[in-house]
Amino acid sequence: MLPGNGKFLFLFSDFCTIGGFALKSCAIVGINWGDEGKGRMVDLLTEDYDIVIRFQGGGNAGHTVINDQGKFALHLLPSGVFRPSVVNILGNGVALDPESLVNELEDVKNKGVKITPDNLKISDRASLLMPWHKKLDELEKIRLADKKYGSTKQGIAPFYSDKYQKKTILAGELLHPDRLLSHISDLLEWKNLIITGVYGAEPYTMEMMEEWLGRYCETIKPYICDTGRYLKDAVKQGRSILFEAQLGSLRDLDYGIYPYTTSSNTTAAYAPIGSGCPALRPDSVIGVVKAYSTCVGEGPFVCEMFGPDAEKLREAGHEYGAKTGRPRRVGPLDIVATRYGVEVQAATEIALTKLDVLSYMDSIPVCTGYRLDGEITVDFPFPSELDSAEPVIEYFDGWNCDISGIRRWEDLPEAARRYVEYIEKQISCPVTYVSVGPERESIIIRK
Ligand code: GDP
Repeated sequence: MLPGNGKFLFLFSDFCTIGGFALKSCAIVGINWGDEGKGRMVDLLTEDYDIVIRFQGGGNAGHTVINDQGKFALHLLPSGVFRPSVVNILGNGVALDPESLVNELEDVKNKGVKITPDNLKISDRASLLMPWHKKLDELEKIRLADKKYGSTKQGIAPFYSDKYQKKTILAGELLHPDRLLSHISDLLEWKNLIITGVYGAEPYTMEMMEEWLGRYCETIKPYICDTGRYLKDAVKQGRSILFEAQLGSLRDLDYGIYPYTTSSNTTAAYAPIGSGCPALRPDSVIGVVKAYSTCVGEGPFVCEMFGPDAEKLREAGHEYGAKTGRPRRVGPLDIVATRYGVEVQAATEIALTKLDVLSYMDSIPVCTGYRLDGEITVDFPFPSELDSAEPVIEYFDGWNCDISGIRRWEDLPEAARRYVEYIEKQISCPVTYVSVGPERESIIIRK
């Protein structure tokens, strides 16, 4: 074994026993297409954690959090910002858009939430999402005309492409102004070739970039630090860590419904890499599953419902995008996709959200398989096969009463318990949380 590895393992095992603390880290991830209610679960569970980290994605989706401080739509900020004792980190894996972060900070601070460099830290290794990334999304949308490709126009795909081409600015470079301008100037020269040459649009100038730096980047500078070192020390001290994902398994770049995925890895396995503590493995992975399915934007969605039934479910669940306001596509719970999502995330337990939304249904549809080429399959198919897959639907008894005030498992109507037990059996993972309302306390804990 290499000496360096040995040393680190020693430190790591030291941490396991410091002050009798158990090693404690947990990832909260989406099992399906996103919007499963991860934000409400992070908001609830941050009480037990010292540090909350966003490790991938950018401001292209949103978490809605409702607590005693109000209702918030978070896009980039970790959902731990509402707990004064929690340190929130934007890891190296996120797409750090200074403009949207500054706007979000202002919005949240205006509602009375205290955010300082003590409780928000930005990794110096996070790449900056530049103004031209959003512009490129816009130009590509125009080029594609009515061929939709599902972008939220937040510059996420151009951003990650540039990151992999090693053509981004790291947040830490803002702290070294002497070299910053020449690096931006080099990137600008290259990017303008594409913006003007390929798309025939106006070029960016250094004056524009200096204006952008002054307007947005100055505000975020105090939050930037070596979060990798901070986390290493935190781990040694036995502090507990919660990894907060954006979107869900089926939007993962490598394992999702490519090309209708996002451009980053939404899976728990990526959490340590994108967070700045690559040696850490989450002890537990809480997969968040909604009691029915929703999907925003383009791409195959086998269990999709249409017509008045879909409209009723969309209204009951208030299924409109937190960032875009777009009506979400809706459908019954999809066991095939959910089982696959659980496997991809290696989820150790499940938080089932929005069970209360189904209370109006006399009988509850569930997609239990896909019909593909005349055969029924329960395995999630290769992405391009999804277009020809048809859902196999079975129906379960509804419970027809309001369950939003229930806090104990045994008080749930039998039909609701049967529904939950059926799901956990099908996906081979225990449902340890059942959420029956958006408020922090509207939860049934089954542990
Ligand atoms: P996220 O991105 O995964 O956090 O999900 P979103 O925030 O986009 O969507 C979840 C929405 O459902 C938010 O508006 C939540 O306030 C709401 N919500 C979460 N859990 C429940 C629940 O159990 N019941 C109801 N009725 N609403 C919920």
